Amino acid sequence: MEIVRSVANLQQYTCEFREKGCKIGFVPTMGFLHEGHQRLMQQARAENDIVIASIFVNPLQFGANEDYETYPRNENQDVSVSKSEKVDILFIPTVAEMYPEEPSITMQVTKRTEALCGKSRPGHFDGVVTVLSKLFHIVNPHNVYFGKKDAQQVAVVDALVKDLNFPVTIVPVDTVRENDGLAKSSRNVNLTKEEREEAKFLYKALRVGHQSIIDGEKNPITIVKEVKAFIKQHTRGKIDYVELLDYPELTSIDEISGQVILAVAVFFDKVRLIDNMIIQLDNNSGMEL
Ligand code: AMP
Repeated sequence: MEIVRSVANLQQYTCEFREKGCKIGFVPTMGFLHEGHQRLMQQARAENDIVIASIFVNPLQFGANEDYETYPRNENQDVSVSKSEKVDILFIPTVAEMYPEEPSITMQVTKRTEALCGKSRPGHFDGVVTVLSKLFHIVNPHNVYFGKKDAQQVAVVDALVKDLNFPVTIVPVDTVRENDGLAKSSRNVNLTKEEREEAKFLYKALRVGHQSIIDGEKNPITIVKEVKAFIKQHTRGKIDYVELLDYPELTSIDEISGQVILAVAVFFDKVRLIDNMIIQLDNNSGMEL
C-alpha cells in the first residue's frame, strides 16, 4: 500500500491507472477506521482493480460549535487497517494541501437538506459536496462507496453526481452495527460508559417504529411520537430530531408509502449520534433496505 499526501502525486497515479484501463474504487473517510469503513473497503476491493481510500477530517463540514477539534484521529491505526483491507493507495492530505488558498467558488446544496442533519447542521452538506467534488476530481474514480448510515449524505451525493455530471457510480453500503445494534461510528469512543449502554436504544427505537409500520400504521406523526417516547424512556440523551420522510427526496409525507426513511439524531454529552432505517413499502412489505 502506498501512502500519498499530495494532490499532484495522487493525480499522477490515477492518470496512470486510467491509461492502463484499471477500474478505480474510492472510499472517502474521515479516518479512525472501524468495521463500517472496512465493509466499504471490502466491497470496493471486490468490485474494482484499484482501491483508493482517503482520510481527511474536512473542516468545511463542521459548524463552529461542533466537534472538529475533538473528532478522534489515529493515523497509524488507520494505515494498518487500510493495509489489512488491501487498499492500494491511502490518501492522507493536510488541510493546507486540500485548501491551499481562500476559495473563490463555494457550493450550496439547495435540495434534500431542509430536514434531518441538513437542518440541524447548517452548511454541513455544502462542506461535504465541496470536499467530495475536489476528491472526485483528484481520484477520478469509477465507483465511490458510501455508508447508508449517513443516508442523507447518500441522497445529497446522488444529487451532486447527477447535477454536475460526475462520471462516477455511487454505491450505498449497509450499516455495520455492534452486537447490540448500535451503528459503528468513529464518534462512539467519545461516549461515556453509561451513554454507550444507552446508545443501543437508538436502533431499538428505529425497530419499534419499523414494527409499527409493518403492523400497518400509516401516519408518520404517530410513528415519530412513538420513537421519541421510546428514546426518552431509555436514554438521557437530548433528541435533536426524529423524522419520517420520503427517500431520497427527504420531503415530508402525510401517509407512509413507497420508499421512506425513519431517522434519528440524539445528543449525548460530547457526541451527537445518528441512525436511520430506509423502508420500502411497495406491496406493503415494509422491508428494510
Ligand atoms: P466517516 O469517516 O464517518 O466520514 O465515514 C466514511 C464513510 O463510512 C461514509 O460513507 C459513512 O457513511 C461510512 N460509514 C460510517 N459508519 C458506518 C457504518 N457503521 N456502516 C457502514 N458505513 C459506515
